[in-house]
Amino acid sequence: MAKYHLQLAHLYGDLMNTYGDIGNITALKYYAQQMDTDIDAKVISMGDRFLADDFDLALFGGGQDYEQMVISKDIQGKKAELVKFIEGNKPLIAICGGYQLLGHYYIGADGEKIPGIGALDHYTLSQDHHRFIGDIVIENPELGKLHGFENHNGRTFIGKSERPLGTVLAGHGNNGEDKTEGAIYKSTYCSYFHGPILTRNGEIAKKMLLTALHNKYPDEDFSQQEALEIKPTF
Ligand code: GLN
Repeated sequence: MAKYHLQLAHLYGDLMNTYGDIGNITALKYYAQQMDTDIDAKVISMGDRFLADDFDLALFGGGQDYEQMVISKDIQGKKAELVKFIEGNKPLIAICGGYQLLGHYYIGADGEKIPGIGALDHYTLSQDHHRFIGDIVIENPELGKLHGFENHNGRTFIGKSERPLGTVLAGHGNNGEDKTEGAIYKSTYCSYFHGPILTRNGEIAKKMLLTALHNKYPDEDFSQQEALEIKPTF
């Protein structure tokens, strides 16, 4: 039995899971184990109740435009609790379609406007008969080089309250124009990286886990967990 326990919400995990985004949970569990922590993951999907207080971490994976359109309606009912979760500095990782739905809106490949919840200050436009596909490398000032694979129609423009996850060294990133990739707001990490992002970039997983542990157990000493060495996967 692990000493610490974290509850993870896998937002729309049955609908939003392109390119094995669920592997991010495997990665979180792998690092959590080395921090004497276990993680219980629960899918929160269409019609399910989501309460911020019930969860310590969350994953929102990527998906197709069609699924995003369906979720766009349901997620409005979860907006208040998702905002509470994000503003409460609880760690959330949102990939591609999930990233888009946390922002104001996404114009899909067929030109349809898919409303997000506007919890974060970005918006996403479309591109004409084109997608950004391929390996991507970015640089984050604190975390160093991050590696992934991107495949998206959307061109995202981040807001003033967000900072990018990194600067594009190779690949397209948020929009192919401003060299930004992803977004960070409080402990919410957004990215176009599939791959999945946390298996290849364990430093982000470590940051998320430490934040979740400090949030949940404010009086505990986590210096041992902080010392955990993340071995690069390449
Ligand atoms: N459907 C969205 C797009 O094409 C998101 C894709 C994804 O999540 N991989 O931009």
